Amino acid sequence: MIAGCGLRIGRVKSRAPRVRNPQSAVLLVLAIACSSSPSPTSSSSPVRVPRLEFVPESETFAAAVGEYERIWAADAARIVHTMQEISGLTFTDTAITAIVFEGVSSSGFRDTPMRLRASYPLDTKRATLIHELGHRLQSPLFRRQDEEHGPLFLWLYDVWVRLYGQEFADAQVAVERRRRGPYPRAWDEALALSPRERAERWRAIVSNQRQRRNEE
Ligand SMILES: [Zn+2]
Repeated sequence: MIAGCGLRIGRVKSRAPRVRNPQSAVLLVLAIACSSSPSPTSSSSPVRVPRLEFVPESETFAAAVGEYERIWAADAARIVHTMQEISGLTFTDTAITAIVFEGVSSSGFRDTPMRLRASYPLDTKRATLIHELGHRLQSPLFRRQDEEHGPLFLWLYDVWVRLYGQEFADAQVAVERRRRGPYPRAWDEALALSPRERAERWRAIVSNQRQRRNEE
């Protein structure tokens, strides 16, 4: 499509001075329509995907590592692209180590490894990996002690829906609600809003947090 536009622009430029006929006019209109269409860079530029290395805490977790590796091999570019597009943020991490073990998952921070529970079913491995990557993606906006699940859930649900569908997203929200801590309330608050309201609130938070961080 874009290459075709370029070709038409070239022909119009080279032929217009000598040939005046209706075909040239049509080509000129096409050229103008093409040149005013949205830049392709917003949706099709190559995504820089962080390198993720999954490391078993012990050999017991080799099979779980294999599952995480297959998720990342299949979907990394799509996951990163979708997360960046919906959040409006860009990953600063280029390489992340994720320890696969049996315990509470956590995002880690910069060189501190991510930790991922080994025994989750496959879909919860997908959802949790994206959840923990989400903390890393939005971490420049927050201080370490901030409770940032409220902001995260304003965009995480919509990432899950776009990647794997609403049934997947709703099932993973149910899984997270069953965990204690900040999850049930943060999910209730996020899902009480429409997708548009979530997006608006998230943009306001990004703007406020950037201002706050700049003033620190
Ligand atoms: Zn979390």
